Amino acid sequence: MKVTVIGAGIVGLATAWWLARDGHAVTVLDEAAEPASGASFANGAQLSYSYVAPLAEPGILKDLPKYLLDRNGPLRFVPRADPAQWSWLLRFLAACNASAAARGTASLLRLAFASRDALYAMLAATPMEFDHARNGKLVVQSSAAAMRGAEAQLRLQATLGCEQQALTAAECLALEPDLASIRQRLVGGILTPSEEVGDCHKLCLELARVLATPAFGARLLTATRVERLVVEAGRLRAVRTSRGDHEADLTVLAAGVGTAALGRSAGVTVPVLALRGYSITAPVRAGNCGPRRSITDSARKTVYAPLGAALRVAGFAEIGTTGPTPGRAEALARETDAVFPGACDTAAATTWTGLRPATPTSLPLIGPTRIEGLALNAGQGALGFTLAAGSARLLADLLAGRDPAVDPAPFRP
Ligand SMILES: Cc1cc2nc3c(=O)[nH]c(=O)nc-3n(C[C@H](O)[C@H](O)[C@H](O)COP(=O)(O)OP(=O)(O)OC[C@H]3O[C@@H](n4cnc5c(N)ncnc54)[C@H](O)[C@@H]3O)c2cc1C
Repeated sequence: MKVTVIGAGIVGLATAWWLARDGHAVTVLDEAAEPASGASFANGAQLSYSYVAPLAEPGILKDLPKYLLDRNGPLRFVPRADPAQWSWLLRFLAACNASAAARGTASLLRLAFASRDALYAMLAATPMEFDHARNGKLVVQSSAAAMRGAEAQLRLQATLGCEQQALTAAECLALEPDLASIRQRLVGGILTPSEEVGDCHKLCLELARVLATPAFGARLLTATRVERLVVEAGRLRAVRTSRGDHEADLTVLAAGVGTAALGRSAGVTVPVLALRGYSITAPVRAGNCGPRRSITDSARKTVYAPLGAALRVAGFAEIGTTGPTPGRAEALARETDAVFPGACDTAAATTWTGLRPATPTSLPLIGPTRIEGLALNAGQGALGFTLAAGSARLLADLLAGRDPAVDPAPFRP
């Protein structure tokens, strides 16, 4: 089959890998000059297989007024006169209940575990270098109430196959002595030894390299903007680009935050909204190893990942901002210096901002649409690096008529 994949981020490239491996003739289109120029460029680097709980959960409701008022908080919401934003928000609010959150967690955990297996299968078939390490993750809590909530989530996830331990503050400090700087507020943490890190951008470049080899034979067309999808009689006839039309038997829309607009051009509503985030990447100072594991500072909603000789620090989630909010990178640098004083050279850090393609339920949309010849693989939100390989394999299994490793129903577009 001739397949066009729109989007050369981690989701589109992983999709291309599985479809080309199935023998399809794959072409990947991207408007940017290089692969991974969107959300996959400098994300938090976490392969966070056991931390997939949806953003929509009952606890977030009580904090909503704060998010509307506090422009410096970790979450920020700017209301706009945009029907897509309000429709997304209503669906998000409808998902803020305990049963939807528990169902979402279970579905996302299954996809995440399948994603780990899928990534290992990919690496076994085509070794790729991307600073991949299984160093474990420690999520630290700063209040007794937050620790109780984290322990309740641990008990729920234990029934779903997660292996995690609740640690006291002293046990956290024994594992990560650098956390001494937050000793005053540290009440405990959840350790997940199986969690991994990696450089998503490097993996994308490696995927592009592998896809170009004769064994995969895929074509990557960069600097090719998709203007719209041309639908005739319920069938996708062509993908109209800045360089002419592309015709294929199947088109997979994996365009990150660009997916909603392209879906709309085909009459398909895709509830994907941009959640802006920020990261800095700071060189670790010679002789100072910094944190050994990935650390999430739950109170500040900031993640720290050791990545090669650097520390990647990511945080913030903004809905409705039209461009980068000044001061975010500086705030991440200040936070890093406060939590890990002297560990890295934040003055020499590179800074970045990107847009997470988020659905209201945090469940990605994977599978064929009602338009013949058009499938979706989008909306992985804050977890696209973690879920990309499993999402791609699920789509390939559905298209090949194979039994997928996970139930596709929760992810059906
Ligand atoms: C600050 C931050 C931290 C994060 N941390 C993590 C983390 O630690 N772990 C994790 O798992 N995930 C993390 N994520 C989420 C993850 O980065 C994303 O979910 C993932 O990169 C999405 O991949 P994608 O391929 O769907 O989108 P993208 O990487 O954005 O790729 C989409 C591509 O489509 C192209 N495109 C769009 N529209 C068009 C068009 N009209 N024509 C042609 N091309 C088009 C774009 O150029 C882009 O290259 C983080 C995200 C952010 C912003």
